[in-house]
Amino acid sequence: MKKKKARELVKERIRKFSPYEVSHIDEGEIKLDAQENPYAFSRELKEEIKGTITDLSFNRYPDPSYRELKNMISAYCGLKSSNILVGNGSDELILALLIASAGEGKTVAAPSPTFSMYRILSELTGSAYREVPLEKDFSLNSGKMLDLKADVTFIAYPNNPTGNCFSEEEIEKIIVASGGLVVLDEAYYEFSGKSFASRIDEYCNLVVLRTFSKAFALAGIRAGYLLCNEDLAHQLRKAQLPYNISALNEEILKVILSKKRDILGTVELLIDSREKMEEKLKKIQGIKVYPSDANFILLKIDRIDDVIKALEKNKIRVRRFSERGLNNYLRVTVGAEKENRKFLRTLEEIL
Ligand code: PMP
Repeated sequence: MKKKKARELVKERIRKFSPYEVSHIDEGEIKLDAQENPYAFSRELKEEIKGTITDLSFNRYPDPSYRELKNMISAYCGLKSSNILVGNGSDELILALLIASAGEGKTVAAPSPTFSMYRILSELTGSAYREVPLEKDFSLNSGKMLDLKADVTFIAYPNNPTGNCFSEEEIEKIIVASGGLVVLDEAYYEFSGKSFASRIDEYCNLVVLRTFSKAFALAGIRAGYLLCNEDLAHQLRKAQLPYNISALNEEILKVILSKKRDILGTVELLIDSREKMEEKLKKIQGIKVYPSDANFILLKIDRIDDVIKALEKNKIRVRRFSERGLNNYLRVTVGAEKENRKFLRTLEEIL
């Protein structure tokens, strides 16, 4: 091949992208920026995982149907294995959905603000991404969403970063009247307790997305699952790579699902911490606290620059937004009690 600039070998559409970057976290920092579960697994549980991994046949591919894993997810969510797809994080499932139903000439819709990966992966697949700003109270307007006649509509339930669950009626209107897929992303389901999963056979265009990264405390291994009717699941599977879950991940997930009651004990703890945090935050002047159904809280802060500086000084990592209209908002993940106290103390001192 003649000498050519390497970048020219990549499609122009992709060249225009900025890579998805997350800044490095230093030792000792308090990480309240990514909705992770702050409670690590016990030593005994880690030993148990180690045992199952030692017995693995590393030279063999994993079971391509992930039968045992799906049976365990089925027992957890009360749906059949044939309604389940597993993914390398729910991000991988979002990509599979877009490969299957969006792309060039297709439209993807989502409210704004919402989880950024819907936009990133829509653009990566060449889909036209359209957003509908949420109302002032962060509610969803089904009419405006439906006007976009999207091939795929994403709705995070509860929504990230606003933390609220949209009205069930508005969502139902979208599912009923949309001519495309409607993906309800229930990444924070264990915290909200609200779900559309039982309706997948009622609506052929409904997809429910879940993750193991939040309540199950498995952000590090990358695993999620998707729930939909059998026919759709059969089609969507074609848009995934074979063996998308490593045998290691499969074993870890099976151990964790066998102990789900213990692991999910942290959900109540975190909801309790969130409520305490909300009460304390409401007492600090210059902060508006938005009600949350998830493991994070959205705050509107008058003197946001001072607050961010103080948090940085105290090595507390939170998420600030650069989007228009959101630059004096901050999203904080509910951490362990000690971490939350330090966050609150920093805010109290500066405001
Ligand atoms: N959906 C929503 C609404 C999220 O907030 C996140 C993570 N922040 C994800 C999906 C991604 O989850 P996963 O780690 O399974 O890719």
